[in-house]
Amino acid sequence: ATPTALMVGTGRGAQLGILIKGPEVLESTRRVDTIVLDKTGTVTTGEMTVHEVVAAEGESVDDVRRLAAALESASEHPIGRAIAAAHPSTEQPLPRVEEFTNREGLGVQGVVEGHAVVVGRPSLLADWAQHLPPALADAVEQAQAAGRTAVAVGWDGRARGVIVVGDTVKPTSAEAIARLRDLGLTPVLLTGDNEAAAQHVAAQVGIETVVADVLPADKVAEVQRLQAAGKVVAMVGDGVNDAAALAQADLGLAMGTGTDVAIEASDLTLVRGDLLVAVDAIRLSRRTLATIK
Ligand code: ADP
Ligand code: MG
Repeated sequence: ATPTALMVGTGRGAQLGILIKGPEVLESTRRVDTIVLDKTGTVTTGEMTVHEVVAAEGESVDDVRRLAAALESASEHPIGRAIAAAHPSTEQPLPRVEEFTNREGLGVQGVVEGHAVVVGRPSLLADWAQHLPPALADAVEQAQAAGRTAVAVGWDGRARGVIVVGDTVKPTSAEAIARLRDLGLTPVLLTGDNEAAAQHVAAQVGIETVVADVLPADKVAEVQRLQAAGKVVAMVGDGVNDAAALAQADLGLAMGTGTDVAIEASDLTLVRGDLLVAVDAIRLSRRTLATIK
């Protein structure tokens, strides 16, 4: 490959809204046959909304909402932002949080109003022996059956509530995935979210292979597994939890709307955060290389 042709490709990329880390990056895209897509913020908008707040018997919906919102106000996760935004802060300022810890891909914890509060995947609470009472377990099941994400809220050793959040697929995702298939790529949906929510999104955009309930450390293992099976893997992601997998992939594409860590770990950045631009990126590199050969 001549450096000049690759530089031209890089310049054309910038016009299309693709920031390319170095001209040599384009060379690896040609052989890519598998494209791993993160769900939240990549295939979906990542703009989650709160659909429902459920309190366990004897607990108040208000306490569940307030303590969770306080804790999540320190979180950058789309779920955290939705829960914090759902609190009417004009009526009542949120309480202070001490000892805040973000458990990437699991949830958040900290001390609020003197209580040790945990907000996250139901399994995070189960790890702490905070088992969901039947009413909350039902709420989780119903939410997941509807393709939504149920977040459990607990404090002082007991599960107290469930907050149901949901997201929508980006308007261009289905078309982009169809075009990626036309280019000969097999799409795989990879997410830390629950299986039902993942299947719900996969069905809307035409993806058949779904890997759900994945912990952040296992996202990179999934990319390695595909590579060990002989696949040349592109990965598209936006989150802190995607960074290691983006770096491991043969080609890492970050959503420009995502976190800085994901952008730093990637070879390409899609400025507008639109999957159709991922199609442009793969086409561009194939064309660039074709003119050099
Ligand atoms: P994705 O792979 O879809 O981007 P993540 O790995 O970031 O998802 O998160 C996986 C799951 O962990 C979420 O579906 C949620 O249940 C839980 N989780 C992660 N961060 C938070 C948070 N800040 N608040 C509540 N739950 C969270
Ligand atoms: Mg994400």
